[in-house]
Amino acid sequence: MTHYSVFSLLKNTLGGHKGWPRAWRDPEPKARYDVIVVGGGGHGLATAYYLAKNHGITNVAVLERGYLGGGNVGRNTTIVRSNYELPGNTEFYEHSLKLWEGLSQDLNYNVMFSQRSVINLAHSDGQMDAYARRGNRMRINGIDSELLSRDEVREKAPYLSFENARFPIYGGLSQPRGGTARHDAVAWGFARAADLRGVDLIQNCEVTGFIREGGRVTGVETTRGTIMAGKVGLAVAGSTTELTRKVGLDLPIESHVLQAFVSEGLKPMIDQVITFGAGHFYISQSDKGGLVFGGDLDGYNTYAQRGNLPLIEDVMTEGVAMIPALSRLRLLRHWGGIMDMSMDGSPIIDKTPIDGLYLNTGWCYGGFKATPGSGWCFAHTIARDEPSPYNTRLRLDRFARGHTIDEKGSGPVPKKH
Ligand SMILES: Cc1cc2nc3c(=O)[nH]c(=O)nc-3n(C[C@H](O)[C@H](O)[C@H](O)COP(=O)(O)OP(=O)(O)OC[C@H]3O[C@@H](n4cnc5c(N)ncnc54)[C@H](O)[C@@H]3O)c2cc1C
Repeated sequence: MTHYSVFSLLKNTLGGHKGWPRAWRDPEPKARYDVIVVGGGGHGLATAYYLAKNHGITNVAVLERGYLGGGNVGRNTTIVRSNYELPGNTEFYEHSLKLWEGLSQDLNYNVMFSQRSVINLAHSDGQMDAYARRGNRMRINGIDSELLSRDEVREKAPYLSFENARFPIYGGLSQPRGGTARHDAVAWGFARAADLRGVDLIQNCEVTGFIREGGRVTGVETTRGTIMAGKVGLAVAGSTTELTRKVGLDLPIESHVLQAFVSEGLKPMIDQVITFGAGHFYISQSDKGGLVFGGDLDGYNTYAQRGNLPLIEDVMTEGVAMIPALSRLRLLRHWGGIMDMSMDGSPIIDKTPIDGLYLNTGWCYGGFKATPGSGWCFAHTIARDEPSPYNTRLRLDRFARGHTIDEKGSGPVPKKH
């Protein structure tokens, strides 16, 4: 396999780019693996990579029902941050952000991680107080944050509507180390690096059921036959409950659709990630020039990867309230992805009560930024049968124990997180 470097680029440029090998193999599934990871999204691929890299477990298969990266990892708005304040989330997301900072070098694949800062706008005194509290808690936990005055926001983002009588801008909270990454490069980078360490990536292979012996999960039924496994880890995002239903496991998870939008390409205009504080709207500009943005869930339970028109109107209204110039823009495309919304808005990385079955779910709006951290922690949990220091609080039984991690204080209503 070629090591990507300036020398391999030069060599292949001279050869007319005809000599690049495939980025990963296309193996037939074996009869048995030590670990099967179901789901070839960001989290499944990262889990396989860290199982091999951190724990030396290489007899691993990732089973993907479609193509690698065709799920939410390739459908999101790519915002990466760790601006959380509750124990459980702070240590986990900061660990993930630190992994992002070295990821391109670690994977030998440019994931285009761009630390352009994430700024949350405040539109009232009360919201400024809440951001001051959040920023202080971030700093206490060793996470970078800066409280910005209205003038400081204006200097960084002059395109915002500062004369808006309905939603005046009072200031904002910035995380300078936050930013964006290239979504499909993350999936391909983890895929290539996992394959290099011996992991089998099996596409067009849907898991349709589980093999159980004496209660323990010992394998899976798939559209490409039965495959046995020492352990099975689920990393299927919005499809989690479709699968856990097959083993009689009821989860505190609902599936909802979230839409994303990309505009026609513009010259550089927005050089941060900015979020609207008087509703739910977030925007950044891709390296190709398109504005990438999104808002709320559509608000009803579904497994369909498409959304409806009223939500589009809602997102555009918020966008134009924040940046009036958006009203002159043409929308290029939009799509939906299925979100695994948990009851408290925080994720679950844990063993299940069923022997041999492990769970990675509940990512809500925030699973892309979690990708390296999630894979790192899930691999640890699967390999050692216990959580790592970064996911000790992200357990499934926290709902029964009453130790929920409700960052927004919205209560047990998944669509509100
Ligand atoms: C529109 C949108 C915008 C978002 N924006 C952000 C953002 O800005 N920042 C952020 O941090 N997060 C964001 N997210 C959330 C983030 O994308 C997800 O939380 C994260 O990608 C989920 O993990 P994953 O990558 O492993 O999921 P996926 O890529 O969905 O991977 C799951 C895979 O499992 C496969 N699968 C399902 N069932 C089976 C089966 N039975 N057998 C085999 N394979 C199966 C699917 O085909 C899929 O490929 C957004 C999500 C959406 C939809």
